Amino acid sequence: MNILTKTSESLLYRSITKFTFGIFLLFSAFISNANAFEDIAIVNARIIDGNGGPVIENGMVLISEGKIKAIGTSVSIPTKAKIIDVEGKTVMPALADMHTHLAWGGEDFDLLGYQWKLNAYLYAGVTNVFDLGGVLPQLKQIQTGIKNGEIIGPNIHYVGPLIDSVDPAWPEVSRSMVSEAQAPGLVSYLKRNGASAVKAYAKLNRAQVLALVREGKRVELPVILDGWALNGAFHNITTGITAFAHTPREVSANTLSLMQRFKTQVITTRSVGGAVPHTVLRGEAFMENEFIKNTMPPWLFNKIQQDVQKAQADQEYVNNNFSRDFHKKLQTTIKEMHDAGIPLIAGTDDTTFYGDALHFELELLVDAGLTPLQAITTATMNAAALVQQSDIWGTLEKGKRADILVIDGKPEQNIKHTRNITMLIKHGQIIDRSALLYNPKEHPNTSSIKVN
Ligand SMILES: [Zn+2]
Repeated sequence: MNILTKTSESLLYRSITKFTFGIFLLFSAFISNANAFEDIAIVNARIIDGNGGPVIENGMVLISEGKIKAIGTSVSIPTKAKIIDVEGKTVMPALADMHTHLAWGGEDFDLLGYQWKLNAYLYAGVTNVFDLGGVLPQLKQIQTGIKNGEIIGPNIHYVGPLIDSVDPAWPEVSRSMVSEAQAPGLVSYLKRNGASAVKAYAKLNRAQVLALVREGKRVELPVILDGWALNGAFHNITTGITAFAHTPREVSANTLSLMQRFKTQVITTRSVGGAVPHTVLRGEAFMENEFIKNTMPPWLFNKIQQDVQKAQADQEYVNNNFSRDFHKKLQTTIKEMHDAGIPLIAGTDDTTFYGDALHFELELLVDAGLTPLQAITTATMNAAALVQQSDIWGTLEKGKRADILVIDGKPEQNIKHTRNITMLIKHGQIIDRSALLYNPKEHPNTSSIKVN
């Protein structure tokens, strides 16, 4: 795929496969020069750095070797740098979706057809995603492919399998834990295989979660718990887990003070649920937005459109699939946690509207009472902290990876403006977003494939 300015490594590989070694040698000097990281200077920018502070007017960002070399109102720009004047536009960190599932085994719509999802994420300006449960070898493969430049996509972080009880809720994507004695083996297995956290699942008892937290601490692996109705329960907070995978159903004053004491974080997942809640909350035209319409395979789009039409026509169907009262309750919980200083992390758990749902998540967080800048922080600074990569990405600061969006608008005033992306820079390279749109030649119709 001809999207990135290719790295010299991936070109080396391709060159070896295409040419004889002798011809390759002649070419390689030329190629590696032509494809060295180009210095880029973005000037006349309004900068949102992701730390939650006010917008910096007339800012500049200098990008070199894939990283931010300098940022501020006075930056000296080397003469060889490519200058991009973005007058009136806003520069902000690219976004992260910290609860998704890219490889949920045979349960998925589109078995192994993950490329369109990766494209959809990037098209929507999402350069980091956290897979909170899936098939480990497949996730490793996607992660490695992206790292090596063989496939295009956001940076992938994953937990691998869920750790659940002897009778797991999702057997295909779980490892069973019968006794606490298994915790060291399970946690070191995940660590060895590149997991960014342990996902503890609903049927584990407190002693088992405690054992996972203890082992996690030993190897510096956070534990993220989905305890279903018991997200936010005292006995779960006090295990010392790093985060709940979803917004708790309700939080009392005691819950909030326990969460403060144990430094519990929460992944928000307010946009989860597929077509019906999106239709109810966003109106019937929501699927017309470019993040969905232009990146999703048409067969899938049509299938979901049918659900949208059903939702519009059938109130009973809607009420069976979506509770407005429950939605309001969770929105209240978001605001209460935010006011109590609980770190919130944007994650969608949405496996239908990849990329688009993250922007909707931010809109829901603003609807719940966060300011747009606070909402942006949940998908930037707070997101990187969850996977212990605050020193690498999440904010626009000197030395961090240059994952940057140029926005036509003022997202600090209207969160919907995060959708108006005019440029995406990933790891210091300008991505050709038009190449991320759905291409039937590269992604043939897979709707006829039957699973089982
Ligand atoms: Zn999930």
